[in-house]
Amino acid sequence: MNILLEDIQIFLLNLSFVFFLYFLYHKFIERHSHRISNEIFVAVISGISIILCMTFTISPVPSFIFDMRQLPLIIGALYGGRRVLIFLVITLLSYRYFIGMDEGYYASIIIYSILAIILWYLIPRFTKMIQIKDKVKIAAVAASFGIVLILTLIFLISPNASPIKLVFTVVLYGTQFIGILFFVTLIERARTERMILEELKKLEKLKIVSEIAASISHEVRNPLTVTRGFIQLLRESNIPDDKKQMYVRLSLEELDRAEEIITDYLTFAKPSLENVQMLELQDELQYVLKVVSPYATMNSVHINFKSVSNLFIAGEKQKFHQCFINLAKNAIEAMPEGGKLTVSVEQEDDKAIILIQDSGVGMTEEQLSRLGTPYYSTKEKGTGLGTMVVFSIIKVMHGEISIKSKVGEGTCFTLAFPIVNK
Ligand code: ADP
Ligand code: MG
Repeated sequence: MNILLEDIQIFLLNLSFVFFLYFLYHKFIERHSHRISNEIFVAVISGISIILCMTFTISPVPSFIFDMRQLPLIIGALYGGRRVLIFLVITLLSYRYFIGMDEGYYASIIIYSILAIILWYLIPRFTKMIQIKDKVKIAAVAASFGIVLILTLIFLISPNASPIKLVFTVVLYGTQFIGILFFVTLIERARTERMILEELKKLEKLKIVSEIAASISHEVRNPLTVTRGFIQLLRESNIPDDKKQMYVRLSLEELDRAEEIITDYLTFAKPSLENVQMLELQDELQYVLKVVSPYATMNSVHINFKSVSNLFIAGEKQKFHQCFINLAKNAIEAMPEGGKLTVSVEQEDDKAIILIQDSGVGMTEEQLSRLGTPYYSTKEKGTGLGTMVVFSIIKVMHGEISIKSKVGEGTCFTLAFPIVNK
């Protein structure tokens, strides 16, 4: 009874080696897609499992020894390839030699040489298969051959084995067979799942980009139609000069708007920064405020700027401008009755902190959480692309952003960028 209990323990130990093998495989292998390191990894892990299994063997009845060595051998060969197969067979036989040079050793040489030849032919077929059930079928063929070989040998050695021995043989090798199929199914399932997830992520981005493209073309069509109308009007000869001037001005404004939308979109669709350079914050922000100041004046917004000089960060000039123009523009638009826009730059340790504060309408928690998602806009002519672009630019510049807002009181954007020493 005690011996049986011990055997069960060892059997479970064998199973746990194999499970550990699966776990490692699952955790690491799939991530390192480099082929050679993959092979080495499978070879080492499977080799260790084979040795562990062969060290802890079960002998429920005399002259019958069982362990799970075939499982790491077959799995390792199928997933590692032919070179790993050779390595594993050599490891197995060397270790068997080390255990003892009896007739069992010669039997092992025969069994595992035949199994190696079978696996040699199965490996490329296994790799080529895509569907899980085809892979499982090939693994089943390999596992069956392994069992048939062992059973033939047992039968040859002791043709009239006791029924109890037969029962153990069937149960133990049956478990191994199921284990191999289970193993392949789990690995393949996990692999498929990961592939689907990756595809979904790609599709998601594609979806956003294409959805925005639709809204872009819609947004660009409006200014084009308006401009076309003005140009048609200009064709008529008897219009007064001031009217002409007005048409031209309005047309240009509309075209600028179209261009702005397209630039916004392109920045989002392609968020990588090329041409990175040193940016002196005071100069760059002064430029930004100069660009938006007519817009501020028109909306009776007073701009207040204070900055320390000689703070440098790394980034692409145009995108930096675009980011802050978007933020300033939003701030101004949040103050329809006029107000104060404060921009300040200061240094905190190795970071440059930029504050953009308005005294505008503010945002609720819910609005804050939606900020930066495409289309989210509370404005009649808004696109909801501005803050999304802001977020993506800050990200490539390794910056951080935090936003505080109170309805009716105003909003404060805090940006932090790593300082670069000249
Ligand atoms: P758009 O300006 O085209 O509406 P944005 O992405 O720039 O798109 O902004 C999205 C929304 O976020 C705005 O419609 C507005 O409701 C809100 N928002 C952005 N900045 C501020 C701000 N400073 N104060 C209040 N609301 C803001
Ligand atoms: Mg905006």
